[in-house]
Amino acid sequence: MTARRRNCDVLIVGGGPVGGLLACLLARGGLDVALAERGAGGAGEASKGPGARDGDTRGYALAAGTVRLLDDVGYWKPLAPDAEPIREVHVSRQGGFGSVVMDAASQGVPALGQVVPAECINAVLADALSATGVERLEQTGLETLEAAGDERREAVLAGPDGRHRLAARLVVGADGTGSATRAAAGIEVQRRRYAADALVFDVRSARPHRGRAFERFTPEGPLALLPQPGGRLNVVWVAPPEVCEERAAQPESERIAELQTRFGWRLGRLRAAGPVARFPLELVRARRLYDHRLVLAGNAAHGLHPVAGQGLNLSLRDVAVLAGGVLAARDPGAPEVLAAYAQARSGDIDRVATVTDLLARGLPVGEKFAPTALRRGMLLLDRIGPVRQLWAEQAMGLQPLPRRILRGLPPVPRETDRPPSAAARTGEGT
Ligand SMILES: Cc1cc2nc3c(=O)[nH]c(=O)nc-3n(C[C@H](O)[C@H](O)[C@H](O)COP(=O)(O)OP(=O)(O)OC[C@H]3O[C@@H](n4cnc5c(N)ncnc54)[C@H](O)[C@@H]3O)c2cc1C
Repeated sequence: MTARRRNCDVLIVGGGPVGGLLACLLARGGLDVALAERGAGGAGEASKGPGARDGDTRGYALAAGTVRLLDDVGYWKPLAPDAEPIREVHVSRQGGFGSVVMDAASQGVPALGQVVPAECINAVLADALSATGVERLEQTGLETLEAAGDERREAVLAGPDGRHRLAARLVVGADGTGSATRAAAGIEVQRRRYAADALVFDVRSARPHRGRAFERFTPEGPLALLPQPGGRLNVVWVAPPEVCEERAAQPESERIAELQTRFGWRLGRLRAAGPVARFPLELVRARRLYDHRLVLAGNAAHGLHPVAGQGLNLSLRDVAVLAGGVLAARDPGAPEVLAAYAQARSGDIDRVATVTDLLARGLPVGEKFAPTALRRGMLLLDRIGPVRQLWAEQAMGLQPLPRRILRGLPPVPRETDRPPSAAARTGEGT
């Protein structure tokens, strides 16, 4: 059977938060955009509504800079009812002294960041995609890329109704750390599998979290509890893979009892409040960000350890810069557009990936050296004001995006164009 073929301006492969947001912005800017999502869990999937678990148990800590970006392009308002502001960050070491506290007031901001459940971001982007006229190819994965002359790159996609051929002026690989787009373009990666996985699940605490986020460095790895709306906290518990496997298989009561021992009693008794998911942790960095009529964004370009909660923040800055550059150009896949994107993003990506990797390797896993490195890191952070300030700025993503980039993005949709918030859809919180 001959595959169907058509042309479009931009084909985005991968409907996670990066592909979903980029597709909305480019379509709002007037481009003919197609979005291919292989699975059933991305923003490319139809909204399942609030409260529905789409298998992603993560609560994303979004830096203040990311919130500002989402607000500037009109997608923060529908997310805000599902977000919890981070008012304080407590960093501590199991069995050691000292707890570094950073608070919004001393940084002169109303919140250090916001925590939003991944499923809410997916739902808001799915609704926004429906409103923007993006062609969505669901359960459709990239198979290969073929040459299509100077002006286009042709993607062969396999979906439920057979093969499609899409010849795009620009193909965007937003298909995560295992990116098939990156592989098809022959872009090599630097890869390090950490000797650690993360278990991610929600808990409730007997005492209110009051917007406090906790990061506790333990000899087996970091343990984070992020505040969420409705008195919940999202737990990110990093440990060696075999330990995570055991814990994931444990009865819930045993897992929570062990968590309580590691975290302590600052929030009173902890209770389980949702399913557990396990994420293998690795560093993946593409050696190049672009190829002929093809560019990488988000995790396809850089997958990071979650210790600093920076992956999506970094990825959404990719989206802003790429969307701004593409919308300002006559030809979205022109080599100079892609080169400018790569140049604009490389410093930020290098810095965040390096700091995150150092944190990930210096602090967790391995009883022998971790306590010393930990103590050194903690003391540095606690005692030296400028280091603490730098850490706070980095963690909050406060380095603003240049205004000229934000000016290049499509304007905020009119009130009537906005998708309703997840809470509004069910009448919650009104
Ligand atoms: C435990 C954990 C906690 C985290 N917490 C935070 C946090 O608090 N703050 C933060 O900023 N970041 C955090 N991150 C990082 C964040 O999850 C990633 O940066 C983010 O998911 C990147 O989005 P993406 O759209 O690039 O990739 P993904 O979310 O991986 O989405 C890729 C999409 O592409 C689809 N796909 C894959 N292959 C194909 C194909 N061949 N064809 C079509 N579609 C395909 C997939 O189905 C998926 O929907 C965390 C990560 C982990 C593991």
